[in-house]
Amino acid sequence: MGMFNLSGISKPTQSAYDVIIVGAGPGGLAAGLYAARARLKTLILERATEGGQITLTNTVEDYPGFVLISGQELADKFVEHARNFGTKFANEEVVEMELSEEIKKVKTDVGNTYTSKVVIISTGSNPRKLGVRGEEEFANKGVSYCAVCDGSFFKDKPLVVVGGGDSAVEEAIYLSKIASSVTIVHRRDKLRAQKIVQERAFKVPNLKFIWNSIVDEIGGNNSVEYVVLKNVKTGESTKYPTSGVFIYVGLVPNSELVKGVVETDEHGFILTNDRMETNIKGVYAVGDVRKTFLRQVVTAAADGAIAAVDLTKYFD
Ligand code: NAP
Repeated sequence: MGMFNLSGISKPTQSAYDVIIVGAGPGGLAAGLYAARARLKTLILERATEGGQITLTNTVEDYPGFVLISGQELADKFVEHARNFGTKFANEEVVEMELSEEIKKVKTDVGNTYTSKVVIISTGSNPRKLGVRGEEEFANKGVSYCAVCDGSFFKDKPLVVVGGGDSAVEEAIYLSKIASSVTIVHRRDKLRAQKIVQERAFKVPNLKFIWNSIVDEIGGNNSVEYVVLKNVKTGESTKYPTSGVFIYVGLVPNSELVKGVVETDEHGFILTNDRMETNIKGVYAVGDVRKTFLRQVVTAAADGAIAAVDLTKYFD
């Protein structure tokens, strides 16, 4: 900054930004809100939709203060809130990061290189693939990972949902209002989903369950017409007719970008301390990409707040 160094007012950082946040889900947006409110020059980079995974959820009913709100509306509120405090946004995909020095460099797909003292990784996660025959072949031809995006194509048609977690059961309930029937195929005889979600699901008349079974194959002609189910107890295989398969078998963290640089667990979830710091000074991780006990909008937002308050120590 040389002659423009306003010492006593703000410490020179020699970087264009104080904080760069990679990913605009609830964790990144909450961090952006807090960092910008702390008068830090904050940039959020997002390759896809601002708001993250919640934009793919029909309704959110467990974010405190909002009894029932659509995922998109909640996401919009998060974005607006961060923007109101002065957070800048760029719709660019981060392709490379240099994190080891005091000034971090973040390169994007359009050839820009941004610099900052602090980087927050809030890249979230993607749906895990099932890895069975037909899954790739019938992608967008009956195989989907997003009920809100694709559900309407299956009006009055039978559907299969794979998985037993919150996502599978919640999205199956959503789909049951569109489809003629929905069958949840789960590999155990107990759901992993929260009790309140289970109770609701068991009351839906056109929602069926096939227990102790996996989808072994997805088949059809031009689009999905059946799945091959395998009972994991008996080994018996059966052909089960369906027009679509919605797959909700967990999450894969988007941590490829920092692989081998930032410490992760064996699944790729980034390890942090309780202030969201990674093993690299000035690099934080928040939200679904982090190894954490609970993955909710409220926990991602809390992660973002904690990171953004802790990082102010670099600007004292
Ligand atoms: P999840 O909780 O990891 O559940 C994945 C489900 O898929 C499990 O039931 C698992 O079976 C099954 N599964 C995994 N691999 C499989 C395979 N190869 N074949 C067949 N089944 C397989 O994932 P999620 O439901 O996507 O949720 C991700 C996170 O987001 C969770 O922390 C969840 O609580 C959270 N979430 C919260 C809400 C909410 O609070 N409203 C909504 C959505 C998601 P097992 O049970 O046998 O392991």
